[in-house]
Amino acid sequence: MTGKALVCGGSIGGLFAAAALRRAGWQVEVFERTGVELSGRGAGIVTHDVLVAALRAVGVDVADLGVAVEDRVTWDLAGREVGRLRLPQVVTSWDRIHRGLRALMPEGTHHMGRAVAGYAQDADGVTLHFADGRAARGDVLVGADGFRSAIRGQMLPEVQPVYSGYVVWRTLAHEADLPVQVREEVFPHFGFHLPTGGEFIGYPIAGPENDLRPGHRRYNFVWYVPVEPRALRDMLTDGEGVLHSVSIPPPLVREDVVSAMMADAEARLARPFVEILRVAERPFFTPIYDHVSPVMAEGRVALTGDAACVARPHVGMGVTKAACDALALARHLAGAGDVAAALAAYSAERVPEAEKAWSRSRRLGAYLFDDPPGGNADGANNRHQEEIMRDTAVMVE
Ligand SMILES: Cc1cc2nc3c(=O)[nH]c(=O)nc-3n(C[C@H](O)[C@H](O)[C@H](O)COP(=O)(O)OP(=O)(O)OC[C@H]3O[C@@H](n4cnc5c(N)ncnc54)[C@H](O)[C@@H]3O)c2cc1C
Repeated sequence: MTGKALVCGGSIGGLFAAAALRRAGWQVEVFERTGVELSGRGAGIVTHDVLVAALRAVGVDVADLGVAVEDRVTWDLAGREVGRLRLPQVVTSWDRIHRGLRALMPEGTHHMGRAVAGYAQDADGVTLHFADGRAARGDVLVGADGFRSAIRGQMLPEVQPVYSGYVVWRTLAHEADLPVQVREEVFPHFGFHLPTGGEFIGYPIAGPENDLRPGHRRYNFVWYVPVEPRALRDMLTDGEGVLHSVSIPPPLVREDVVSAMMADAEARLARPFVEILRVAERPFFTPIYDHVSPVMAEGRVALTGDAACVARPHVGMGVTKAACDALALARHLAGAGDVAAALAAYSAERVPEAEKAWSRSRRLGAYLFDDPPGGNADGANNRHQEEIMRDTAVMVE
């Protein structure tokens, strides 16, 4: 069947669902809360073959998708190589994928500044209610509104994101600003530093405007650091004394919070990554939360992407999972006469996949807290090093 689909959320998950449904013959309208075009601040996204296939399937050009890395290397505190694994991958950026999908939306079908408040469904369709009092009517509603989804909040109020006990500090450094030795020996690889009480990963991504020329690329710096809930509340409090729930906009992170992180990095992060941090942009942090929904549909309403499940970023599956959700949703709806039955079949197919990514990401995350006999403060003695290097940001089968 075909009909009209309403998509709540215009980020990667929502745009993927919109593109896949349009290909299946559906009329689609996307409603995004944010009033300006979204930007991922250059965040790196590791690709998998199924993601590249999904992008092709919905019509995104995958030429010059990103930077090719050939292997993974782990360094200890002093900057000595303590592990290497060959694992060719292409690393792209959030912006590159978002732009490709956004360009597929015809004029007038992607609405910005439209915050969804809730929905009501009946035998004939579903009505989307907006915070400003307006409404829209369709045959199917796709909740692609991220990990604090209003659609999931109504469908499954008991499913709440859980704080992992750690945050991720991120920043980008320009390739040209790096010391020569770091540029030659560290920049080209997918890098790790794996001491107890932290985990660093980093890799090269394109420069601004998808610039892939050597010398013009950037290094994506990602450092997971345990933070107790009480200390987290202080980090989430801005200079005006306002406590931000869940996450804080990067410009509002207090200077003393950034300085404390820099001092911490100088003391216990592998030398090459400290040198990268010194020339990088101002770092910002995001607390890591996760959740998984026991069902991904109810009647005419489906959940996709982070609204349905957030696996911690160790598995690098967020975008790929959202893409697979989108293709599955469109496939089930294309073959169906009954929307609710199609969405139930979609949910039955995708929930086990989400659970696999969620549980593997939790296992990898738990290793931040695993102290081996004899200690591992310098990251030279991580007993899970082989598994971490093999399973991080790799497709969960
Ligand atoms: C540190 C970090 C590293 C990551 N690394 C990777 C990686 O390497 N590989 C990877 O695949 N993924 C990665 N991810 C995850 C990835 O970015 C997401 O999983 C992916 O983009 C899918 O997101 P989404 O579109 O479902 O949700 P979001 O990106 O959260 O989008 C939800 C959208 O809905 C909008 N919205 C929210 N509420 C409403 C409302 N009420 N009404 C209307 N609109 C609303 C929001 O404004 C937003 O635009 C990472 C994430 C983090 C935090």
